[in-house]
Amino acid sequence: MNEFSKRRVKLVFILSLFTTGITALWFFLARSLNLHELSLYIAATMPFFICSAIISKVGNLTLARFIYLVAFNISVAITSSFIGKAGSVEFILLFAMALPFVFFSFRREKSYVALFPVLSIVLWILLYVTDFNLFTITKIDTTLADTYIYPVSIFTTAVLVTYQLIFFSMINARYYSNIQDEREDAIEASNAKSQFLSMMSHEIRTPMNAIIGLSHILGDTNPRPDQEENIEALNYSGKILLNLLNNVLDYSKMETSGVALDPIPTDVMSAVKQIKKIHEPGCLGKGITFKLQVDEKLPMLLLDIVRFNQVINNLVSNGIKFTKQGSVTLKITKQEDRNGNVRMRTEIIDTGIGITKEQQEKIWQPFTQASINTNRLYGGTGLGLPIVKSIVEAMGSAVHIESEVAQGSRFYFDIEVKSISNEKLNQDSGKKERNLKGRRILLVEDNKINIMVGKQILERANLVVDVAFDGLMAVNMVKENDYCAVLMDIQMPIMDGYTSSIEIRKFNTTLPILALSASVFLEVKSKIEQSGMNGFIFKPFDPEDLYNRIEAVIDMPLAS
Ligand code: ADP
Repeated sequence: MNEFSKRRVKLVFILSLFTTGITALWFFLARSLNLHELSLYIAATMPFFICSAIISKVGNLTLARFIYLVAFNISVAITSSFIGKAGSVEFILLFAMALPFVFFSFRREKSYVALFPVLSIVLWILLYVTDFNLFTITKIDTTLADTYIYPVSIFTTAVLVTYQLIFFSMINARYYSNIQDEREDAIEASNAKSQFLSMMSHEIRTPMNAIIGLSHILGDTNPRPDQEENIEALNYSGKILLNLLNNVLDYSKMETSGVALDPIPTDVMSAVKQIKKIHEPGCLGKGITFKLQVDEKLPMLLLDIVRFNQVINNLVSNGIKFTKQGSVTLKITKQEDRNGNVRMRTEIIDTGIGITKEQQEKIWQPFTQASINTNRLYGGTGLGLPIVKSIVEAMGSAVHIESEVAQGSRFYFDIEVKSISNEKLNQDSGKKERNLKGRRILLVEDNKINIMVGKQILERANLVVDVAFDGLMAVNMVKENDYCAVLMDIQMPIMDGYTSSIEIRKFNTTLPILALSASVFLEVKSKIEQSGMNGFIFKPFDPEDLYNRIEAVIDMPLAS
């Protein structure tokens, strides 16, 4: 028996006994007023209530409830008919009217919930219509009814209705306390999930950093042409895996804390060229062409390029995945440039399998694919588009879709972004030419493979690299040497990256410190800022991104 039914059995049992008690009270009242006929009527109903108590305990709840409700309604109507209008006994029917709402289930026993209140109302109406001569025409003395019965009727009604209200309130209170408990459990589970994801994200990204970094290094060591292809494939697969990992992590992160944007000065053209580089090998392998059309007139923009790239990456990946022949085009055009605000349209057009009108609405839901065959034929998790939607919405826009089955699809969105002034642009382009050659940088990292990868990547830009294996060693090395920047891992033995940065800031407020973070969580980002670091680079990093970030911070004036 479920929890709900047990509660009902208890209710019917208690109420049956309670009503037997009240009936006994009425019996003695009738006796003491020498109303023998009435006392007999009342006595006759008592066994029904006792029966309903026993039957409810035995397990036939429906029969018990029927007996109780019929006996109760009829006994009130008979008593009322005997006593007449002056006794106001019929008001007890109010209780009978509300009782089915707690006796029966609103979902499964709707008809009973409707039937029994109707029975009470009909009896009440019949009493009035027949001038209380419904069951008997004998009436007791009006003054007697008025003096003794009326107060007892009102008292009985009040007690029964109060009982009902208390029962309702208790059920409500228990219900809300259950909801509260469940809510707390859910929050706890969600926090545990976040922690687990943060840990997994770190654990997976660290070796990914090595795989992607090493494939970059291998590619630069004059490999044989046959090795070159393998290295490219290795790098491509690493990036795809990283994208998938990012999607899963990002989705759960967005679910809990929304999308936070971090706009930085961006040259859209060079940023999206990377996308072409990433996806071209995949297109070539399938025999389709990848077209990149970026408006020459686009100025430098203040844009969260990491998020923007993530959107394009997801849409382009889908385009390639769902296209067997033809092309995938990434088109970015300037729509309007007013007072330093640029409206930019981004379109991803493919000549693939297309999406039906009905599916076009469904595919934005998490874990949803256009058809049950999609996963078998093309793989995927169904998370790409929900992430795209969240990011584009955070950028103040919406993604539109135009698609014809077997013709292809076009995903597009317009975003408004600030453009960077000409002076800033000159400064930035001046920066681009700066050489990192011979500058000394400190890499703080405890993982040996990451040290190897990081060192080689940094040395390729002709930087002189010193390595500290933990945060404390980093503090001491910064005291003794002059570095252009510090690349600081976060999780390390002896002293972590946050504490190390706080310590460094005590004696050096100008040295640029960039965190190397494998975590995608916002908490980490704000902790990085609080500990006095100048920014962070996601692991695994692309060498070009890393050089750009180092260049950007080297001469950056500090706030403090
Ligand atoms: P995934 O690609 O991992 O399955 P997405 O959320 O990116 O998840 O896409 C959801 C679904 O939308 C895909 O499974 C596919 O059925 C459909 N879809 C997305 N982009 C395209 C496209 N360019 N052409 C055809 N179908 C698409």
